[in-house]
Amino acid sequence: MMDLTSPAVVRELIGRYGFSFTKSLGQNFITSRSALERMLDAAALDAETGVLEIGPGIGTLTRELSMRAERVAAVEIDRALLPLLSETLADCGNVQVYHADALALDLPAFCRDALPCRKLAVCANLPYYITTPAVTMLLESGLFSQITLLLQREAVERLCALPGEDSYCAVSAIVRLFAKPQLLFRVPADCFIPRPKVASAVLSLSPLDRGLSSEQKDRTLAVLRAAFAQRRKTLLNTLSAAELCDREQALSAIRACGFRDDVRGEALRAEDFILLAAALSE
Ligand code: SAM
Repeated sequence: MMDLTSPAVVRELIGRYGFSFTKSLGQNFITSRSALERMLDAAALDAETGVLEIGPGIGTLTRELSMRAERVAAVEIDRALLPLLSETLADCGNVQVYHADALALDLPAFCRDALPCRKLAVCANLPYYITTPAVTMLLESGLFSQITLLLQREAVERLCALPGEDSYCAVSAIVRLFAKPQLLFRVPADCFIPRPKVASAVLSLSPLDRGLSSEQKDRTLAVLRAAFAQRRKTLLNTLSAAELCDREQALSAIRACGFRDDVRGEALRAEDFILLAAALSE
């Protein structure tokens, strides 16, 4: 079988199909075998795991996933890649390619039908423009036992950020609400065709079970999002403005959690948002 990490092979393949890259779809295909193998090792797959891959591109990662997992469901938005994938994945009997926008999937229903496996994981070289909604959707679903993603390095740093760091934002707190994030290793820009402007990195998200009911989860997310909606304002002002509670309730919840009256949302950790949401619902 052709080596899809070889730039010459990639160029021959896309030339033969007349494929042209669509920048707005974040199409940068991986051409580093060592990065791919390190990423696959981190994904901790086995013969009982069903893997969701968002954006298979020409199938480079998909082929490797096929060898290590029970099944692979690869969701690709670009119709122009489907004939290439038919060729590159022709001998991968446990892979199914779906032509869809991954962000529009009903994930529980999709995984139930496409990946009837004991364990579920995600492994993907994500298009950069869907990073935040995709990570949020994958984590909120609670379906996956491991999520391993190749992303822009800056995005990985944002997703791993803690309070007090410049890049700490709503999605950093959401990530820690649901998982333990870890930047595993960096991947230089010259490991892709075409070469992106910035470096990338592999992120591991190991989901945590915080024992929250779906109601507690929704309430915590609503409070967290309200707190970051106007991050320069005090929590007291943002919560009252978001109409989640009145000013008096907000103040008493803030005090019940032991925070200063003038605390800002950006100073709180995921655990603090869980406490605050519980205090607000009392
Ligand atoms: N997995 C391949 C690799 O590692 O070489 C390609 C990765 S490339 C960074 C991202 C892929 O995601 C492209 O094939 C692109 O067409 C696809 N894509 C972009 N937006 C998508 C979406 N909303 N849903 C599904 N696939 C998407």
